[in-house]
Amino acid sequence: MKRAHKLGALAVTALLTAASPLAAGTAQKSFGGFVPPAGWLPPPLDPAGVQLQTKQLGPGVYALLSNRPPVDNSGFVVGERGVLVIDAHINGTMAMQIQDAVRAVTDKPILYLVNTNAHGDHTFGNYAFPAETQIIAHRKTAAAMHHFEEEKAMLLATVNGDASVFDGVELRLPDVVFEKSMIIDLGGRVVELHHFGHGNTPGDTVVYVPEVKAAWTGNLVLGAASIPWAIEGGTQAYLKTLADMAARLDIETIIPGHVLTTNGDSLSRYLKYLSEHIAEVQAAIRAGKSLDQTLESLPLKEAYLPPADSPLAAARPLMQGFHLWNVKKTYLELSAQ
Ligand SMILES: [Zn+2]
Repeated sequence: MKRAHKLGALAVTALLTAASPLAAGTAQKSFGGFVPPAGWLPPPLDPAGVQLQTKQLGPGVYALLSNRPPVDNSGFVVGERGVLVIDAHINGTMAMQIQDAVRAVTDKPILYLVNTNAHGDHTFGNYAFPAETQIIAHRKTAAAMHHFEEEKAMLLATVNGDASVFDGVELRLPDVVFEKSMIIDLGGRVVELHHFGHGNTPGDTVVYVPEVKAAWTGNLVLGAASIPWAIEGGTQAYLKTLADMAARLDIETIIPGHVLTTNGDSLSRYLKYLSEHIAEVQAAIRAGKSLDQTLESLPLKEAYLPPADSPLAAARPLMQGFHLWNVKKTYLELSAQ
């Protein structure tokens, strides 16, 4: 496990350096009415040439890890009855790569596909799964997926403006929705779906396999050496959601939606970051600082950045940008209260 982690980390150095050249242009774009602050960068999610590497976590439990973080990870769980896949990736080609990885392990049918959030990099591959595969998502995730064209337009910035990434993609909505949690027995192997509240998106879903204490966290926890990104909604709700998750799940391995696998420590890091962040923005508002002054006075602390000499160093500007986004979100949220 240690060795695989290291290899993944090395890959990041080379690949995260390709920060999106569209950043300046997209920085003015509105995201659901929210205009990102200067300095924010869209994460590079272009799947061209990406290989998903299969890593077994326990009997019948597999992570599918992108060899070019932060392009999406995925995974699958095999029981006696069949297979459950976690996230469908960004297009049909990647969705077929997931299915090929399943087929390399088992001939059992793919009974279920879970979308951890509504974003296209987790759902645009839905259409390429067999018709008999039941797609499951949180109710709010399923509702958000109706904004299909808007989502495509939004994701363009993450794929270097290359619309051909979405060639052939059709909207395929979930067949089953849930509200709080759902337990799926695959036959001798149980998978739990949990919604702890609003985090990165309104319908964030955690897929948990208690047998190996592994959690697929989608965008809720983005991976090793990352900070949370309150892309939709606020940091106060995000903090509450993660605190609930930490209290209720015993987690040894996190397979994040993006970046490298990690362990429960990432949750502590996220909780600490969010509570400090909210208190600091609150203090800036009480001190009468404007939004611009607050953005300027609260850069991301070194402790929350990947070390400059680490293989993840190339992700520093991306994390700094997420932080600026969070500062603006929190400032606007707290100012309105
Ligand atoms: Zn994502």
